[in-house]
Amino acid sequence: AKDSGRNCFNFFVSSMQEAAQKRLQLIKDLHAALEQEQLVLHYQPIIGLETGTIHKAEALLRWQHPQRGLVSPADFIPLAEETGLIVPIGDWVFREATRQLLRWREAYAPGLQVSVNKSPAQFERSAGDEGWIDHLQTLGLPGDSVVIEITESLLLDATSKVARQLCKYREAGIQISIDDFGTGYSALSYLTKFDMDYLKIDQSFVRNMSRDPAGTALPEAIILLSHKLGLTVVAEGVETVAQRDLLRDLGCDYAQGYLFSRPLPAADFEAILKMQRGM
Ligand code: C2E
Ligand code: CA
Ligand code: CA
Ligand code: CA
Repeated sequence: AKDSGRNCFNFFVSSMQEAAQKRLQLIKDLHAALEQEQLVLHYQPIIGLETGTIHKAEALLRWQHPQRGLVSPADFIPLAEETGLIVPIGDWVFREATRQLLRWREAYAPGLQVSVNKSPAQFERSAGDEGWIDHLQTLGLPGDSVVIEITESLLLDATSKVARQLCKYREAGIQISIDDFGTGYSALSYLTKFDMDYLKIDQSFVRNMSRDPAGTALPEAIILLSHKLGLTVVAEGVETVAQRDLLRDLGCDYAQGYLFSRPLPAADFEAILKMQRGM
């Protein structure tokens, strides 16, 4: 019995070592990913519910790992945030997405907007302005061609540094969107403290919707509140025609989800833009 206990302990230690080793390897790989251009962006269309056409695209990060294949952001963004690598990675995302946007606006869709995600860790760990505003000016893109998606938690305990940064974006015309609205926080006061443009209804609300009063209460209230505050509403995770129709009836402005399209490689997204243009 004593022996088996020791084996158990040894197993525990060695699996901990294994986990630590795996983590170190992943960090190494992530450094290499940036240098060796293994990161790619996929683009998910955001559809105007009145027009049924693509108005915007959300840029979503993917990692083309040489051995593991396509790695989803949930599996490496937390690590990138812990190590600070999220700052150069986020910088790459912004530059890549806007470079792509410029091409698409010139060739197919002059009014297209791209949205990029910026996590609280990116705000905390960067020295301030990453040169994004200058970068837009260099490309000749107007500020309002870009939307930055932030989370509620950033606004709840916004430091003055965060507030200043958001202000700078706004002054440059860049639009701000509150992502994952309604998940985890019940405080609403921040909605009037910061000037923002969009609110994204989290997928969980969309999933639980149905055509009875209880089934629409939350999305309906969120849409009403948003409009009162001058915010435009995007619903996330729209997967069925019923959800789309209901959201449209409730006055939701935009929708994004598998019903319309999954996030697509740039070439595939471009093909849809072309088709929409009748090209
Ligand atoms: P998010 O910003 O909330 O992005 C939406 C997620 O929902 C995406 O997952 C998208 O693929 C997924 N989605 C879209 N439509 C549907 C649908 O109809 N049904 C379902 N079930 N899911 C749908 P993804 O691409 O795996 O990204 C996960 C998260 O990783 C993002 O959540 C975002 O928080 C983070 N992320 C992705 N790219 C970046 C980035 O460039 N920078 C930062 N900081 N975070 C990123
Ligand atoms: Ca987002
Ligand atoms: Ca979201
Ligand atoms: Ca506003």
